[in-house]
Amino acid sequence: MSVSASGDVIRLPSPGRYVSHPDELLMTTNVLVVDDDTLVRTLLTRLLTKQGCNVIQAEDGEQALKLLAPGHEVHVVVTDLEMPNMEGSELVRTIRSLERLMALPIIVITGSDEDHQVDSLVAGANDYISKPFDSHLLPAKIQNLANLRQIQLAAEKASWTDQLTELSNRRFGDIRLQEEMARAQRYGHPLSVALLDIDHFKLVNDEHGHQAGDEVLIAVANELRTVSRRTDAVARWGGEEFLFVFPETTSEDAAAIVDRFRAHLAETPITVSSQDEPLIVTVSGGVSSLREGDTLESLVDRADKGLYRAKETGRNRLMAWRDGDFQLVTAA
Ligand code: GH3
Ligand code: MG
Ligand code: MG
Ligand code: MG
Repeated sequence: MSVSASGDVIRLPSPGRYVSHPDELLMTTNVLVVDDDTLVRTLLTRLLTKQGCNVIQAEDGEQALKLLAPGHEVHVVVTDLEMPNMEGSELVRTIRSLERLMALPIIVITGSDEDHQVDSLVAGANDYISKPFDSHLLPAKIQNLANLRQIQLAAEKASWTDQLTELSNRRFGDIRLQEEMARAQRYGHPLSVALLDIDHFKLVNDEHGHQAGDEVLIAVANELRTVSRRTDAVARWGGEEFLFVFPETTSEDAAAIVDRFRAHLAETPITVSSQDEPLIVTVSGGVSSLREGDTLESLVDRADKGLYRAKETGRNRLMAWRDGDFQLVTAA
């Protein structure tokens, strides 16, 4: 930051300037400020807002983690060390333990104590700023890390996205599911998954060509996206196979949502460029819910067995694991 002769604050360049996509030039840096002291939060907010940042505030670590839930748009975290409930260093460690947040830039607010500064860096913070704040140094550090974050985000997005359908890929589905399982196990909340597979998809390729097959996959993915709520994850799990993750959702509720999708898809004609007549495709699926002692593999495997049963018994249907066996899901 610099101050012109007239005293006006001159803004630092946008964090997107190192990124090639023009959209990113418009991006504002979103900073999450975590401090139990209202005065410090207000001071930082004023300072950073002046620099053109968006500031979001949290009073403690738990609130901060809620604000960093999947889909969050925080670019840099600035956190105090001493806070009730969860210390700053624990917050840093927790963030670093989540694969999804592993690279999120964090600046820790410390005193002048060198031990604290070292501890913060060891815990996984990228940098620290000591109180009292230097009004030039903090914005410069944030800007610096925000630039880095932009580059990371572009790379992360690419590594987590399926190129054909632009849904999350299996790698991201895996990360999300791990995280949701840990959360559900910790709080004793329900969690359900559904595995869907397009019926006789090989025939689409054989009869209409691979390009038509690709167009069908894109169309099905678009339909899937419209049913998934913001907190649900849907990923392309394999060739023509999709995984839904439903946090905080019982098997019954997940089955109802997915079966509505199944019925909807069976009535939705899909236009492909090489054909005059639109195509109709159906899906089969299996639903399972988290049980004690489940691993990611065992949870998904039960859904997979349900899917297999759905195929075996006629396709265009959904099977859910209930009371020790698979049951056909029927419209409520
Ligand atoms: P079922 O109802 O038992 O699932 O039969 P199916 O024909 O859907 O299953 P199968 O596993 O025999 O065939 C899946 C086909 O999906 C074979 C594979 O070539 C095709 N496929 C997988 N990924 C893609 C893709 O990205 N694009 C296209 N066009 N086809 C794909
Ligand atoms: Mg404090
Ligand atoms: Mg199939
Ligand atoms: Mg398949």
